[in-house]
Amino acid sequence: MLLKNFLPKKQVKSVLNIDPKVLKEHGIKAIITDLDNTLVEWDRPSAPPKLIQWFQNMKKHDIKVTIVSNNSETRVKTFADPLGIPFLYKARKPLGRAFRQALEMMNVKKEETVVIGDQLLTDVFGGNRSGFYTILVVPVAQSDGFVTKFNRKLERQMMGWFKKKGYLTWED
Ligand SMILES: [Mg+2]
Repeated sequence: MLLKNFLPKKQVKSVLNIDPKVLKEHGIKAIITDLDNTLVEWDRPSAPPKLIQWFQNMKKHDIKVTIVSNNSETRVKTFADPLGIPFLYKARKPLGRAFRQALEMMNVKKEETVVIGDQLLTDVFGGNRSGFYTILVVPVAQSDGFVTKFNRKLERQMMGWFKKKGYLTWED
């Protein structure tokens, strides 16, 4: 069924609820994460203390993280550089190229990697079609950039359908 390509494997309210120990139990060694409205609000330039801790906790447990964003170099670099987190910008998700590049950068296999994001059309669909385990998070902010606003409408319709079918249940 076509719509299932947009269905995440798991849903959580925040990336902060993603625990490196649980990932490791499932053989996960790496994270490919979206930036805007997944890690922080799309218009927030840098990471708040809790998120910095989350990155440190991942590092402590040997979980590698790469930020893969469709946004501009300036936006992604400004956020990621102070954290020392590798990143790819203008990734053109849902296309698979940036995901493959991130795997190469981290030297891991896709079976060992989760894709995290707040959008069904780019993050989840992109991750699914490239064969990753996908985790959807609730968008950090309700507002969006221009292109995303357009996608959100379609997304809301799909979400409604998934909920009706009982496919979508938010976990803490
Ligand atoms: Mg996003």
